[in-house]
Amino acid sequence: MKSGKLIIFSAPSGSGKSTLINHLMAQGLNLHFSVSATSRPPRGAERDGVEYFFLSPEEFRERIEAGDFLEYQEVYHNRFYGTLKSQVDKQMAAGENVVCDVDVLGAGNIKKAYGERALSVFVRPPSTEVLRARLEHRGTDAPEVIDERIARAEFELSFAPTFDAVIVNDDLAEACAKVLEVVQKFLAE
Ligand code: ADP
Ligand code: 5GP
Repeated sequence: MKSGKLIIFSAPSGSGKSTLINHLMAQGLNLHFSVSATSRPPRGAERDGVEYFFLSPEEFRERIEAGDFLEYQEVYHNRFYGTLKSQVDKQMAAGENVVCDVDVLGAGNIKKAYGERALSVFVRPPSTEVLRARLEHRGTDAPEVIDERIARAEFELSFAPTFDAVIVNDDLAEACAKVLEVVQKFLAE
């Protein structure tokens, strides 16, 4: 069986990456989400094993030591996130196209590991003001968490030029169409 491809999405939190990914995954392209592990608590209606595998900091450390991660990062202070090697390789070997949602450093590491078999996509908001407004409107994060996410956004935005494709999420319908176009082209290559 032909092995699947990997699509890596990265964006400052609140850019609309999850919204774009959800739209893309509903297009019948044999795309399957890679469920990462994290040591942060579930947010809103998030379920263990669906959005993330929610681990305690101790469990996360054990999985690092066991060499279970393709990559992992401490994205926010004491908040670890990692891609499980077993998940991704099993899915690709089964011919599934895998979608990863990772921070900018994780995206660089995965792209390095998979090369041409991976497409890296950066989603950016039209401005920092819009980013803050979206995070506030989403209503899932405390004000100090929003401040932390905005502070990190500056750092993340500086990585945009290192990605294979950059999508500005201003008008949602336009951004959805653009994502679909670049992903379809990559899958057809
Ligand atoms: P991320 O996954 O990047 O953190 P989300 O997909 O959760 O971001 O989007 C953040 C918030 O912004 C959500 O409330 C979402 O509905 C909203 N949003 C996403 N894209 C747009 C857009 N193009 N215009 C206006 N609001 C948007
Ligand atoms: P959130 O807490 O909003 O779900 O995610 C915060 C950040 O962690 C986002 O930038 C997201 O892409 C990143 N992230 C989620 N899973 C992983 C992962 O497995 N590895 C890395 N490096 N980052 C991740």
